Amino acid sequence: MPEERTQDSEDSKGRTGPEDLRGSVATFDRVEEGATAIATLSSKNHEVFESRVRDRSHVCPACGQASVHRFLYRKNGCDILRCEQCGLGRAETMGFDPESYYTSDYFSGERPDGYADYIGTENILRREFAGTVEFIRKFRASGRLLDVGCAYGFFLHEAKRFFDVSGIELAEDAAEHCRRSGLNVFTGQADETLLGRLGTTDVIVLLDVIEHLPSPRDTIALLVNHLDPGGIIVITTGDFGSLYSRVAGAHWRLMTPPQHLWFFSQASMQAMATSLGLEVEHLDHPWKVVPLSLISFQLTRMSGLRPKRIAISNRLGLPVNLFDAMRVVLRKPSR
Ligand SMILES: [Zn+2]
Repeated sequence: MPEERTQDSEDSKGRTGPEDLRGSVATFDRVEEGATAIATLSSKNHEVFESRVRDRSHVCPACGQASVHRFLYRKNGCDILRCEQCGLGRAETMGFDPESYYTSDYFSGERPDGYADYIGTENILRREFAGTVEFIRKFRASGRLLDVGCAYGFFLHEAKRFFDVSGIELAEDAAEHCRRSGLNVFTGQADETLLGRLGTTDVIVLLDVIEHLPSPRDTIALLVNHLDPGGIIVITTGDFGSLYSRVAGAHWRLMTPPQHLWFFSQASMQAMATSLGLEVEHLDHPWKVVPLSLISFQLTRMSGLRPKRIAISNRLGLPVNLFDAMRVVLRKPSR
């Protein structure tokens, strides 16, 4: 069970306590008014103290400042903290190695926090990605496009009708799948060497990828260097400031460390963009057609059962919007 901070309301329930004790503890008679207040205060202080001890200072990759990070709760053995400056959430993990994590298991339902059956839902995903391409073309109609974390290349196949496309993917199997289907895809991380080989580009997309990156700020900064002036970066990720995220806390569907390491809010996205010299040209919470198999996979996981693959629902999709995921277009100023 994840630990969660005690609710304030639970403190006030204890207020009748000193009243009952009055007969047995003489001193309470003289300080009855104060005792109630002190009893409430000290338990409150203790709670605040406990959580303050777990607060710590970090340099935030979104706002770029050394700031206090407030401890929120623990999930999957990771401390979840929030930058007091900009609201970015971070998962503190011990020895998480992305290279050994994102294997074919991740995309085929072998991992409870991965995809149910990524390849099996190609049709639905491609329809969804075709919509994303249409959206991107409102900001940039053509040119060179780079997909960072392109998985099996479904988005790239839709984008290549209008753009000169290439991709980067960490999972070897997925990258190989892309190359076999004729796409120009490199295996590895978006680092200086790989980006150097690719040259500059007009559009860079990171679809549900930024929350997985070990150092999102360093990666975005590198990508900005490989973006032509006037070019755009399109990012989709969860919205940590959304109502669903705030109400659900540790139980939010996207609160899945160590797979997800960063939880952006609109403010933290804005802070990162500004501090890297980018302009936020657009931000919305789009509707999305989600494969029924993924919905049932996630619901089963949330109910605590081990998810199973369900073949029948791979072809069906439902339009879903929980307004807890955002789509952002960042523009590099044209000098
Ligand atoms: Zn911050």
